[in-house]
Amino acid sequence: MTHPKHDRLECRAMFEKLSEYMDGELKENACTRFDEHFRDCPRCVEFVEQMRRAVKLVEDMPCPRLPDDLRRSLIAAAESMDDHPDSS
Ligand SMILES: [Zn+2]
Repeated sequence: MTHPKHDRLECRAMFEKLSEYMDGELKENACTRFDEHFRDCPRCVEFVEQMRRAVKLVEDMPCPRLPDDLRRSLIAAAESMDDHPDSS
């Protein structure tokens, strides 16, 4: 196996920064770290796509910030990933 060892803690760290990433608040090098992680982690990519759709809804609101409860549900989803190992 040449696939790099994938640490779910890394996924979780990604999700904790995800709202900043999607708000464009991260420095460019931090964005690169996301991009590199996503290249190796299709589940994160899929999750980000879902979040982007959710953020689109938020952006239609007067205050286009990721609300705290959405941020929390995002982190909760990241944690629940640990209970559901990839079965594909
Ligand atoms: Zn990941």
